[in-house]
Formats: sequence, C-alpha cells, structure tokens
Amino acid sequence: MIVVMKSDATMADISGVVKALESMGCKPHPTRGADRTVIGVVDARQGADFSHLEGAPGVEQVIPITKAYKMVSREFRPQNTIVNVNGVAVGGDRFVVMAGPCAVENREQVLTAARAVRDAGASILRGGAFKPRTSPYSFQGLGEEGLRILLAAKRETGLPVVTEVISPELVPLVSEYADILQIGARNMQNYALLEACGKIRKPVLLKRGMMSTVEELLMAAEYILSNGNQQVILCERGIRTFENSTRNTLDISAVPVIKRNSHLPIIVDPSHAAGHTDFVIPLALAAVAAGADGIIVEVHPCPETAWCDGVQSLSLHKFEEMMDKIRLLADAMGRSLPAVTRAGS
Ligand code: PEP
Ligand code: MN
Repeated sequence: MIVVMKSDATMADISGVVKALESMGCKPHPTRGADRTVIGVVDARQGADFSHLEGAPGVEQVIPITKAYKMVSREFRPQNTIVNVNGVAVGGDRFVVMAGPCAVENREQVLTAARAVRDAGASILRGGAFKPRTSPYSFQGLGEEGLRILLAAKRETGLPVVTEVISPELVPLVSEYADILQIGARNMQNYALLEACGKIRKPVLLKRGMMSTVEELLMAAEYILSNGNQQVILCERGIRTFENSTRNTLDISAVPVIKRNSHLPIIVDPSHAAGHTDFVIPLALAAVAAGADGIIVEVHPCPETAWCDGVQSLSLHKFEEMMDKIRLLADAMGRSLPAVTRAGS
C-alpha cells in the first residue's frame, strides 16, 4: 500500500502518518518527491484495512499495491532509483557500460582489459573471481587472489569493480573488494544468498535466471530490498528458449516491462545472451534502443586464449567499435556516455 501525501502536507502530518503506521505493526518508507511525499508500506497483516488513514491530516490518497512484489514496484516508489556506485550513477541520464573479462586469469590480463575499456568509455570493470560453472571440471576462478587482482586494477584505473558472489558465506569477503556484488543467473533464486545481500550496504547486480520470468526476477529483488538493501540493479541476460542459434534468447521486452513495473535500474548482458562475439554489438545496441540503463559486456585482450567464455568475448578493438556505435545511438536517445580518452580521439 502507498500513502500519497498532499503537496502542502507538513512534516508533522508526515510523521503523524508514519507513527500511525508503525503503531499498526507496519514498516513505512517515506520518499520525498519534487512535489509531494509518498509513504510506501509493506502490509504487515494481510488484508488489514487502512482506509481510515485517508482522513488523517495531510493525506491525499491511500492506494493498495496490486503486485506480488511491493518494495520493488513502481507503485511503491514512482520515481527511478539511481544506484550510486562509488560516484557512478546507474539508472540516471548516463548509459553505463560495465566491461571486462568473464574470469580473472592474471594481473596482466585484467590490467590490460581495464585500461582499454576505461579509455574507450566504460565506467565499471567486470571480472569473475568466483565462477559458477556448469561443469565441476571447468575453471572455477582464482578466488581471493582474483579479488586482489581486481582491486589492483581498480586502484590503477579508478574504475569501480563488479564481481560475482556465489554463496552467502562469501558475501563478507567479496564485499571487502567489490563495489557491486553480482548475483548470477544460476543463483537468482538462492534465497539465502539474496537475504545475505539484503543485509549489506553495497549495490547488488541481480541477473535474471535463465529459466525465470520477469515477475520471478522482481520477486527475487524483493528479497534484497525487504532485507534492507535498496541498491539493486537488475540485469536481463537472455533466457533459455527452443531457439538454439544463440546461447540464450535476449528478452529485450523485459527492459520496457521492468521499466514500467519497477523503479530499479535495468541493464542488459549481451554477451551471455549472444554466446558469440558476432551478435554482441547488435544486442548491445538493442539494449540502448530499448531504454536500458546500461550493459555488462565481456571483453578480453586475447579472446582466443580466454579460460572462460572466449567465444563471446569482444577483443579490445571490437569493444572500441561497439562503444563508437553506442555513443551515436545513446546521443540520439538522450543518454550520454563518458568521453573517450584513447589516443588519437
Ligand atoms: C557472468 O557474468 O560471468 C555469468 C556467469 O553470467 P550469468 O550468471 O548471466 O550466466
Ligand atoms: Mn561469462
């Protein structure tokens, strides 16, 4: 339920409603908009009647939230959430590019990729130190050594880091190094992990499960928000369908659907959707055109030798080509990108 206050409601009116809700066992979340305050409430007692609040001083309207997810819904919070990642705003006017290798392999590989993607206009460095692999015999990541390499690259380039956390026990360790904790597709419904990420105060990147609906993604995000962490970025990374000419099918419609139903930022991962470099740039452009807030893309200094997901990783040269195209389209869509700093530009 949300309580919409009148535009001339006083602070005393607002705190009166907050106190009344607390006395009814609810947790009110007031948000101050440009014109008025809206108080979001997750109904503590299913079916409780709040209509009497309509008569309270300063209250304009009491509106029930019709969706299964509450705090994640746009009804609960009408304005877009902007997630601040160490000074990089995700969900604001700028289209944000997160880029780097699938997996951290060594210092040289990460530093080379980090410098190149920053110089081409990326704002956040990606790289997996803990890798959830389909096969137990595949490379599982460098673990904490990988996190140390990411931190070194962050210190050198100034790029904040997004990296995956694969279990609740690892949340404290990964939080020490990461600026954004990534919950991968395979873990979207790992409720213990969602709850652990709800208890920290760092941004979380929640990827859509490969067999999950948009509503299930939003319900997963609800676990994080309802545990206290409001800084969630959603990610569409392709779902499994009968089509097998790509690794997954990018559900581009998820972008406008999520924009309508939720206030959280939504980015697209064209790499895991495409499964092949040839399709990554067109899918990244589709993300810009569909109104996504950014992309997360795999880039490797030498994709042929990558330990993980080389077939879908862009070379540094291809990444620059993609950024040039994104810049043109983002401009046309009214979304800016950071300036290019590479030599000769
Ligand atoms: C990744 O980003 O490297 C990854 C494993 O992605 P997903 O969870 O979407 O498969
Ligand atoms: Mn990958």
